[in-house]
Amino acid sequence: MTPNPLADLMRCVQFAAHKHKDQRRKEPSKPPFINHPINVATILAVEANIDDKEVLQAALLHDTVEDTDTTFEEIETAFGKNVADIVREVTDDKSLPKLERKQLQIEHAKTSSTKAKLVKLADKLDNLRDLQIVLPEGWPQERGEEFFVWAKKVVDNLRGTNEILESKLDEIFRHKNLLQ
Ligand code: ZN
Repeated sequence: MTPNPLADLMRCVQFAAHKHKDQRRKEPSKPPFINHPINVATILAVEANIDDKEVLQAALLHDTVEDTDTTFEEIETAFGKNVADIVREVTDDKSLPKLERKQLQIEHAKTSSTKAKLVKLADKLDNLRDLQIVLPEGWPQERGEEFFVWAKKVVDNLRGTNEILESKLDEIFRHKNLLQ
């Protein structure tokens, strides 16, 4: 039997859903966390027409190490080194203080691989779309505005990667008066 090229993708959906099963997003309606990685992969496949399997797999898995007990080794064993490496590139080091982590995201964006940059662009697009609708619980208005300013700094260092995603992000930044 020839290997089914879609099987790896389905295993990622299942793996991520299992890992994030007890987590909820921070919006007041508390949607299941897994909606976010599924959105990120769907943005890449549907809106940006990305058909690179590793990129879509990494998109589905991109928050598993940062936000659950998943290890990079586990991802490498289940999905291979290439996918694990992309996830590694888009994962913040949670042992660092929050401000430093945010600064590092800006710096790391510049030197990331193209595949990691694609995941990052779609990740930011989904996060900003959510933020445009409603702030996470406990966030004052100002924190929301600061997030847009920070996200633009990250995106500025990801530019030249994908025209569709970048123009959709720019539309949001323009709406926020962060772009002329
Ligand atoms: Zn994310």
